[in-house]
Amino acid sequence: MPAHDLRIAHLYAHFLNIYGDRGNIITLQQRAKWRGIDATVTAIGLGEKFDPDQFDLYFIGGGQDKQQQVIAEDLIKRQDVIQDAVKQGAVILAICGGYQLLGHYYKPAQGDELKGLSVLDAFTVAGDRRMIGNVTVKRDDQTTLVGFENHSGKTFLGKDVKALGKVTVGNGNNGEDGLEGVASGSVYGTYLHGSLLPKNPHFADRLITEALLRRHGNVVLAPLDDSIELAAHQRALSLPA
Ligand code: GLN
Repeated sequence: MPAHDLRIAHLYAHFLNIYGDRGNIITLQQRAKWRGIDATVTAIGLGEKFDPDQFDLYFIGGGQDKQQQVIAEDLIKRQDVIQDAVKQGAVILAICGGYQLLGHYYKPAQGDELKGLSVLDAFTVAGDRRMIGNVTVKRDDQTTLVGFENHSGKTFLGKDVKALGKVTVGNGNNGEDGLEGVASGSVYGTYLHGSLLPKNPHFADRLITEALLRRHGNVVLAPLDDSIELAAHQRALSLPA
């Protein structure tokens, strides 16, 4: 089998890291390696430059409003580079605070409105309560996603933007429209911490497959023994909000 490589950029790895979202990076890298795919991870910090063609997958985690305020100023300077990367087929996985900054803006409870990248037709405004608890999502393909949410921001998607799925337990994007996250082309955003991918191996593999498409074409990933991951997924499905 030809050797494939997967190049992952971890945006603001040292800043947006308080909700354990680094577990997503570990999952992506390990599930690729288990298939003989050389997965490299590059942490991109404030002010560090990168070429839009350099990476196959960009990951950005969640953070408190104060970290988001610092990140937003830096992230908007990369708007063209990231929009180009998406145009070239790169995958983005953004969690919570990172997800909020992919839309047009995030208006936190305190402080100025943060301008987003507008790679998603969405916006976020601070809610009057924190949405904290277990979340279960049903996708259009009938698969489920499980995770944990902890946010006050309420995200509203544009009318033509596809959600990641429908909430069956918990709040999701805003606790009002029954939607969670976003799946817009190769751009995925979600409020699911946990971290998301270890308990959702099918979704992790989907992201790896999509990210490989850009430089390697359609790569069929060999099945893994996901019995432990799926047991955790099933257990999470039984948890209350
Ligand atoms: N600070 C944002 C909010 O409270 C995002 C929080 C997070 O990333 N978990 O909505």
